[in-house]
Amino acid sequence: MNSTAGATQSVIPAHLLKGQKALVTGANSGIGMATAIGLGRAGADVVVNYVADHDAAEQVVKEIKAFGVRAAAYEADVSKEDQVTGMVDRMVQEFGTIDILVANAGLQRDARLTEMTLAQWQKVLDVNLTGQFLCAREVTKEFLRRGVVPEVSRAAGKIICMSSVHQLIPWAGHVNYAASKGGVQMMMQTLAQELAPQKIRVNAVAPGAIKTPINRSAWETPEARADLLKLIPYDRIGDPEDIAYAVVGLASDLMDYVVGTTLYVDGGMTLFPGFATGG
Ligand code: NAD
Repeated sequence: MNSTAGATQSVIPAHLLKGQKALVTGANSGIGMATAIGLGRAGADVVVNYVADHDAAEQVVKEIKAFGVRAAAYEADVSKEDQVTGMVDRMVQEFGTIDILVANAGLQRDARLTEMTLAQWQKVLDVNLTGQFLCAREVTKEFLRRGVVPEVSRAAGKIICMSSVHQLIPWAGHVNYAASKGGVQMMMQTLAQELAPQKIRVNAVAPGAIKTPINRSAWETPEARADLLKLIPYDRIGDPEDIAYAVVGLASDLMDYVVGTTLYVDGGMTLFPGFATGG
């Protein structure tokens, strides 16, 4: 993935998130990287979480700092409780507080059911679901401690869970991944219901097919690309910036009344395109 701070991100209003502090997990690649840069473009200070490849994380930090905001790279495995606690504590210490969590880190370990090992099942659930739970829990403690600061945001905090169209669309050969995203959906809605009275907004973004390293095999060859496009009524594969725009919007006060919603950003993939001519 190339760096994304260029022209495509310039549509983001530069002061939309001014003075806010954002934590993006898995932010040194793909969607997380574009989102971290988008939040910086919108005026937020950003912590770029990563679990591997320090240099890539530092490159993202450099791009964000070019917008005149603060940024830092923090290493932490989101599936490890002590590492998540340490990361959030460090952010509060070094950045003063936290206003926005983008729980983005995720992975796939694909296999047909009878070949899937317990380790493959567990790894995906640990990172994609438990990781989001741990990050949401820790940042919420800070949101509740600090409360609303009206000159910063109308909300005491915003959590955006990175889900997937596979919270809705079953996906043979990926039962661990689909189960994790189905879990994210209900976790997000439950947290939204629980935390709304404290003015904490929890929402999700559900990407369709976005060109990133996680799904390289689905878009790399012309044949795979053609197959994939059959599933996308809007007839283009998404870019990480498509997701970054949705996250920046959801995190901002423009969307202050949006609570407990999943925003599908999928070119119509969840419209069951097979039924356009059949059924
Ligand atoms: P990616 O592989 O480029 O990025 C995933 C990031 O998560 C990487 O930075 C990786 O290092 C990080 N990560 C993995 N395990 C981690 C851990 N234990 N702790 C911290 N970070 C960890 O893939 P992507 O497409 O950018 O995926 C980002 C999110 O978007 C994932 O949650 C994925 O499920 C979701 N998503 C992607 C697509 C798509 O088409 N690309 C579609 C739907 C949902």
